[in-house]
Amino acid sequence: MNVLLCTACGHRLTEPLRRLPELPERPEYDGLPGPDGSRHAPPTVPRGTYAVDPEPSGAPFVPHPDPDWAGAGIPGLCMADPDGDGFLMSAGPCDTLVTHPEDSAGRLSFNPESTEVGCCGATGDKGPNQLCGRCGTVVATLFSDCYVPYEIHFLPDAARVSPV
Ligand SMILES: [Zn+2]
Repeated sequence: MNVLLCTACGHRLTEPLRRLPELPERPEYDGLPGPDGSRHAPPTVPRGTYAVDPEPSGAPFVPHPDPDWAGAGIPGLCMADPDGDGFLMSAGPCDTLVTHPEDSAGRLSFNPESTEVGCCGATGDKGPNQLCGRCGTVVATLFSDCYVPYEIHFLPDAARVSPV
């Protein structure tokens, strides 16, 4: 098993996790409240696991070169280009570490400088919104709103994998 540690200060950011061979396909979500009343998608990875996302993830977002492309900037969320006709795509880091949000309960804090506006949770569309709970370094982006996946992406430079 591994844990993720803050690269800056060594603070433990997750429960013990087992690496999955690849990022699972994101589950469908009907938008209805879960058994506990929460309004978020089913988790992308199960509790106690993590996976590496080889695709660019999160901010910054840039215009897609094809103006007819109508894909999602983050999974589940199309982001119109405020300065053009097309949509934005992620130009964020590859190889983010994807975890179940509840495996970091009490270990992170919300970035007070984030300008995102969600309805049921964190949208993650304004950049990394999670800080190390000890030193305050920006470490991850939480997605937990009702129209985005339910996952945390740790920045590959800000979190390191350590065996336990
Ligand atoms: Zn730290």
